[in-house]
Amino acid sequence: MARKKGKLPAAMRRGHDHGRCVEEAMTLAAELCARRGARLTELRRSVLEFVWQSHAPLGAYAILDMLSAEGRKPMPPTVYRALDFLLQQKLIHRIASLNAYIGCIDPGRPHSGQHLICRLCGTVAEVDEEAISGAIAASARDLQFSVERQTVEVTGICVNCVPD
Ligand SMILES: [Zn+2]
Ligand SMILES: [Zn+2]
Ligand SMILES: [Zn+2]
Repeated sequence: MARKKGKLPAAMRRGHDHGRCVEEAMTLAAELCARRGARLTELRRSVLEFVWQSHAPLGAYAILDMLSAEGRKPMPPTVYRALDFLLQQKLIHRIASLNAYIGCIDPGRPHSGQHLICRLCGTVAEVDEEAISGAIAASARDLQFSVERQTVEVTGICVNCVPD
């Protein structure tokens, strides 16, 4: 995720071509799953597409509602299993503080990024600052602590929501 300093991620660029974000995410997901021999079933695909409908995270029940609106009637465990699959394949991230899911912008590369969450519009931007992950890893090493999962979520107001 080679992001130039000062360049806004797509999530925070107002009026960006979001159709392209979705298209790229879906193409990449299909490629990665094919390469890994993982089955991107129709339901998993739909769930991923719903998660990608915007740059704001989506909860499991919102996804369930969307599937129901399409005439499908999956049970909640089915949706959770689809979300688990997408998490395992690292195609989505779980935003713990909101108990909701967001599409990963760089699923082909192992990373533990940080999430900036706008509390007004709900947009979440994923950033990956090596310095932050490095500092956490170093602190954990000092304490002989083995890290299993790392969640860095920052809440605030995005550039589009700052009052003039
Ligand atoms: Zn977008
Ligand atoms: Zn990611
Ligand atoms: Zn905002």
